[in-house]
Amino acid sequence: MGNLPPQVNQALALLEGAGFEAFLVGGAVRDLLRGVRDIEDWDVATNARPEQIRAAFAGWPLADTGGRHGTVTVGLDGQRLEITPYRVEAGYSDHRHPDTVRFVPSLREDLARRDFTVNALAYHPRTGVIDLVGGQRDLARGLIRCVGEPEARFREDGLRILRALRFAATLSFRIEGATARGMERNRVLLAELAVERVRDELTGLLCGPAAGPVVARFWRVLAGALPELAPPILGGRGWRRVGTALAALPPQPALRWAALLWEGGGPSGVLAEGLLARLCLDRRTRAGVLRLLQGREVPVQAGRKPLRRLASQWGAEAAGQLIALQGAFIQGSGPWARRRRAELQRAGALLEGLLGAEDCLSLRELAVNGHDLTALGLQGRAVGRALQACLEAVLEEQVANDRTELLAFVRSWRGIDR
Ligand code: ATP
Ligand code: MG
Repeated sequence: MGNLPPQVNQALALLEGAGFEAFLVGGAVRDLLRGVRDIEDWDVATNARPEQIRAAFAGWPLADTGGRHGTVTVGLDGQRLEITPYRVEAGYSDHRHPDTVRFVPSLREDLARRDFTVNALAYHPRTGVIDLVGGQRDLARGLIRCVGEPEARFREDGLRILRALRFAATLSFRIEGATARGMERNRVLLAELAVERVRDELTGLLCGPAAGPVVARFWRVLAGALPELAPPILGGRGWRRVGTALAALPPQPALRWAALLWEGGGPSGVLAEGLLARLCLDRRTRAGVLRLLQGREVPVQAGRKPLRRLASQWGAEAAGQLIALQGAFIQGSGPWARRRRAELQRAGALLEGLLGAEDCLSLRELAVNGHDLTALGLQGRAVGRALQACLEAVLEEQVANDRTELLAFVRSWRGIDR
């Protein structure tokens, strides 16, 4: 077990000094046991009530953040800590929000309401790990397993279904059998969840190192959250192709979302556009994904000139992503597929080389600018047209990206333009 940051020890001591129990809980314990180094969120559970927590941290910067969960956020020497009273939740009539939240005196009850065994561990430097549900064994085996009866736990809160998938994808864990069956059986609950939560869990899932196998195995569950992609739009084979592609792509959100929508996103991406808008994906990512989907049919060739042109039109980053996506979706192992895969791999490497060599790829990198052209006597729209012509000429390797050569080129080009 790694050492706790001093601020965490201090928080435990302050609560205990005020006469209460306090334990580290949640993801931080799980991640400490996994040997994760850069843990960001530190959650402490205590039998103190919110007002008692605030009193124990008098003089330190505080914010009430948890609403009726009673969470108090404390800042101790630059470290944010969330302090939450032991609590249980009851009566999830909408499968999303508990009807009542009740503070309870025992850690045991607080741990029992948590979602998965690996998330239901508590730790104190004096007592060590407190494990009432076999969380350490599941952690060692790499298993996501519900605390308690899966059916009931998912019916209480459908978001747990997506959390299970997200943890499986980010931790590269398997999902225990009864838990997996509970997820399959309750997938209809996913249609009712708040879209922002769905978006965040899915983005986390898609960017996990095991996203590919999770999507391939649990596509029916995912289709519950994404009815736009349910059969007949995308059948089992399509989803498995998406899984294979995800496994071959770097974990960038726009790239992974584009992979998810590559096959089912509809002609010209209309379906994808609707889906991403419904999930309130941020505008930048949304635009990036839709643009990549537009590039499904763009013919990519592994040559310097065509790649410079591609990078110039798409931007260096998007061009690289497009090449990766096209490559990830090539099916089969026949001669055509092998050749095409190899060509796209060459294209990717060549593109990186071009970028590394800082070859001229956009107007900004051109060795002449608008001022140079105005000095030659060009005005208004003619300046933009001349710059564009310079870029074309450089991309076609007719002129070097050199100031003197480009100015000479503009002079000759002006002659034609007149
Ligand atoms: P992450 O690394 O993603 O932050 P985490 O385990 O810390 O993982 P959080 O969402 O920060 O997850 O929640 C903290 C803890 O609260 C969890 O470890 C779990 O014990 C509990 N928890 C969170 N969401 C739920 C839920 N929907 N149902 C039951 N318990 C939950
Ligand atoms: Mg957390």
